[in-house]
Amino acid sequence: MVSYAQGIDALNQSLSELRDINVSFEFFPPKSEKMEQTLWKSVERLAPLKPSYMSVTYGANSGERDRTHDVVKRIHQQTGVDAVPHLTCVDATPDELRQIAQDYWNSGIRRIVALRGDLPPGTEKTDMYAADLVSLLKDVADFDISVAAYPEKHPEAPNAQFDLLNLKRKAEAGASEAITQFFFDTSMFLRFRDRAAAAGIDLDIVPGILPVTNYQTLVKFAGFTNVHVPAYLHRLFEGLDDDDQATRNLIGANIAMDMVKVLAKEGVKHFHFYTLNRSELSYAICHMLGVRG
Ligand SMILES: Cc1cc2nc3c(=O)[nH]c(=O)nc-3n(C[C@H](O)[C@H](O)[C@H](O)COP(=O)(O)OP(=O)(O)OC[C@H]3O[C@@H](n4cnc5c(N)ncnc54)[C@H](O)[C@@H]3O)c2cc1C
Repeated sequence: MVSYAQGIDALNQSLSELRDINVSFEFFPPKSEKMEQTLWKSVERLAPLKPSYMSVTYGANSGERDRTHDVVKRIHQQTGVDAVPHLTCVDATPDELRQIAQDYWNSGIRRIVALRGDLPPGTEKTDMYAADLVSLLKDVADFDISVAAYPEKHPEAPNAQFDLLNLKRKAEAGASEAITQFFFDTSMFLRFRDRAAAAGIDLDIVPGILPVTNYQTLVKFAGFTNVHVPAYLHRLFEGLDDDDQATRNLIGANIAMDMVKVLAKEGVKHFHFYTLNRSELSYAICHMLGVRG
């Protein structure tokens, strides 16, 4: 019988043998001067790790689109790393989307994260889903396209199989990679990856890793994204709300490191980090995975 100690030793040993791990980092456009400084400090800290790309989220309305584009452009100019805009389709016409895509292509952007986006409050249906956006983008130019995947099912999907077939439609429309919603249960991610393979979904399924630095914010966010927060997480962060950030960071890093160790051992070669514009935890986890500057 393998003891826990032997199991942990084996996991750490296999980690030291890892090669060829790719990472990518996600940021959001800053909304204040202070947030702007935090973002660029983080971009500079993480760029030397030579990520596959850095992506920038996009919120509805055209002002936000411009800010996404500005951050994308500056990341690329300042660091040389491939910068990838997220694009949603709920708030734009197909003609507008074609124009945005053409502008992106003309300015040298070759990958896009294609999403439907969240429906505005009170809206129940939309004319366009992410799969339609993937087709539209592929009609404009030969972009590399990433899409979203939901190991725990998208909140609006009637069931998991329906959602999996939606992912298949996105692959068939021309996506090459799916980034998952964040999660904490690694076996659930692995089962999802198996189900996708069994359904013939030909996509790299990249786990989205959220290093938790604020438990209360996590709980709020997990509530509306249908992500299960295991009871042990609550127990680990209990009593630390008013403690210093460094203590919470250590707990958050420990949780994420345990997850990536298991996933790396299960053959995952690409990890996508939801950085929330901070670098400390993502940097430490990458270092542990052997991703060095
Ligand atoms: C990695 C990642 C990055 C993200 N970045 C952003 C961002 O930058 N900006 C932002 O606003 N949001 C972002 N989101 C959130 C995302 O926009 C929401 O989760 C949104 O509600 C769904 O987007 P989707 O691309 O997954 O949609 P879709 O794949 O279109 O699916 C949406 C829902 O509709 C269902 N569906 C699909 N096709 C049909 C159909 N024909 N008929 C009926 N139902 C259908 C699906 O099963 C699913 O329940 C991101 C999510 C992830 C995982």
